[in-house]
Amino acid sequence: MARACSTCRGNGLDPYTGNSAPCQMCEGTGKQFDPGRFFIYEMGPFILNAPAQVNATFPQYFVGAAQNGSTLNGVTCQITGSPFRWMFSMAKSTFPFTVQLKDAGSGSGRSFCPQQLQIHSRNLFGTSENPMPLPTPYVFDINVQITADFTDLAGGVGVCSVTNGSPNVTWISGSLFNTASSPGPPYPGLPIWNGAQISIAGVNYVISNALGSGVTSQTTLVLAANYAGATSAVAPFSVSNSIRVAFMGVELSS
Ligand SMILES: [Zn+2]
Repeated sequence: MARACSTCRGNGLDPYTGNSAPCQMCEGTGKQFDPGRFFIYEMGPFILNAPAQVNATFPQYFVGAAQNGSTLNGVTCQITGSPFRWMFSMAKSTFPFTVQLKDAGSGSGRSFCPQQLQIHSRNLFGTSENPMPLPTPYVFDINVQITADFTDLAGGVGVCSVTNGSPNVTWISGSLFNTASSPGPPYPGLPIWNGAQISIAGVNYVISNALGSGVTSQTTLVLAANYAGATSAVAPFSVSNSIRVAFMGVELSS
């Protein structure tokens, strides 16, 4: 239980008005404000558009999970034994994504945006250097789960054609190579995949980020180094989005 307000002793009435008005210190709640103790939760890292499905190694926070597609639903973040006042949101990811966040503990699951929508990561999260403060902090009860549904906006999985000793990759099927430009650093104005990692037939390569190279069309791209595996017209490829989402705030005395 929160401690009783030191001004009104917990009855919520202002003793300086003869108890005729709500206590101004606690706004009539009778509870002492608890500044809390710093704490941070994180979901992930998990990977969308991964080379293969992988189960999480730490399921409570979905650490290490991988999905061979662009969506992952029901990702969890377990609140521990103290109420948690969420004050800042942050995310780190390879590419932008959309997300639907919920407090799964409050009965039907309180959503932080309209229930059928997912919000673009740039509109919901700050960066780790510039966390986004919540306009009003939100308190999660003990032992509840923060849950989230994620959709990757930029990666992809498919099948490509590659030749041993050549840096050129040709699309065959699945996600087209992403020709959209990056929304910002590190490669503003260049295709968002330039400089990113691509898994081809189970081996990681890097897509060239040289000017005029990299993703040259939706069906052709150039690696930073020659492909060194067996020549194949049915090589699986994936360009993955690794995501971590953090909730910074304070633990409250329960
Ligand atoms: Zn009070």
